[in-house]
Amino acid sequence: MAYSKKTREHFKGTLQGIKDDGLFKEERFICSPQAADIVVEYPAGAERKKVINMCANNYLGLSSHPDVVEAAHEGLRQRGYGMSSVRFICGTQDIHRDLENKLTKFLETEDTILFPSCMDANGGVFEAVFDDQDVLIADRLIHASIIDGMRLCSALNESFKHSNMKHLEKKLQTYQDARFRCIVTDGVFSMDGDTAKLDEICELAEKYDAMVFLDDSHSSGFLGKKGKGTHELKGVLGKIDIITTTLGKALGGASGGCVSGRTEIVEMCRQRARPYLFSNAMPPVVVAAANKVLDVIMASTERRDKLEANTKFWRAGLEEAGFDLVDGETPIVPIMLYNAKLSQDMSRDLYERGIYAVGFFFPVVPQGKARIRTQISAGHEMHHLEKALEAFIEVGKKYDILGKGKKEIIEMYGM
Ligand SMILES: *Cc1c(COP(=O)(O)O)cnc(C)c1O
Repeated sequence: MAYSKKTREHFKGTLQGIKDDGLFKEERFICSPQAADIVVEYPAGAERKKVINMCANNYLGLSSHPDVVEAAHEGLRQRGYGMSSVRFICGTQDIHRDLENKLTKFLETEDTILFPSCMDANGGVFEAVFDDQDVLIADRLIHASIIDGMRLCSALNESFKHSNMKHLEKKLQTYQDARFRCIVTDGVFSMDGDTAKLDEICELAEKYDAMVFLDDSHSSGFLGKKGKGTHELKGVLGKIDIITTTLGKALGGASGGCVSGRTEIVEMCRQRARPYLFSNAMPPVVVAAANKVLDVIMASTERRDKLEANTKFWRAGLEEAGFDLVDGETPIVPIMLYNAKLSQDMSRDLYERGIYAVGFFFPVVPQGKARIRTQISAGHEMHHLEKALEAFIEVGKKYDILGKGKKEIIEMYGM
């Protein structure tokens, strides 16, 4: 029977269901390097168009930075293309170790281990460190990859209401008899752009003898005065036991991730973490470029300072125009629209005006919380932001949502 007609029909039906729900994701093709200005083919087959990118994780504008690209070329020349091995067999070059050491220094931790991605770091770390005598207490809005990593581990999976310290404290009290308690959180929550209350989390961890796990993928490289991340911003450098982060966002944007933190935990990962043991090492070309990225951001805070200034300008401009924003201080600036169709319509109209900003709706965000999530970059110049702001205001006027809050927008468009 194998892949029978009935099997095929089953999956076709499921896919049609996704389309009928209006949740089918079309890919858009970028036909240029990742940057503030990109060339896009959308929908597939349409004429290519130059637009301003307002939704990349390219926070520091390093994805196509000439020095980073040159370092990649040099790495390719000197260390070749692929490793053809996992780390522990013959997949570790000197430059892998260099990068781990630089990350340790930058993040102000004790040691660091690279993974093929942060998804892999999250997938490997829990199982390597915890077992059924332990309990993991996670914020309810953590990233999907952390949820998956926790599921792969036999420790009890528990949760607390988003950023609710009272609820977290109650859970910590409940599990005082467990061998280890570990509080699990993102540094910056990617959909709302809000930051974890890491200072309070660390106090509770102290009080109830718990470890702290932080996924800082949306902060590493730019949050805090030296860009070290949420732990710097919240004044708890050196207090986080396990940090995972990605090299796929601000830190060059290619790929790779790491676990950084206590010496023994990093060593446990080297001995036991399955994505480290059973998946290929990061390619030398990416490692070489990432080493350059760390050099650039440790030499000067110029790029994170520019990002901060750009973010202030963008938030103030949208606020003044009367958009309904989610408050915050990170370069993730969501414009709340509540209605899924409105988010798609506005995104399309922005695209017509040369602005690339994708609308998010269920299941990426909760039902009735559709939005356009904008992300600011140090790669944006003032003229990009001014042009984008103008387009947002035009489109905001067209849909008559300026100066209106949640209640009024839902009254007009529904949820
Ligand atoms: C993007 C992201 C990841 C995944 O990172 P990759 O290196 O692309 O696998 C993991 N965690 C969080 C919080 C993220 O935002």
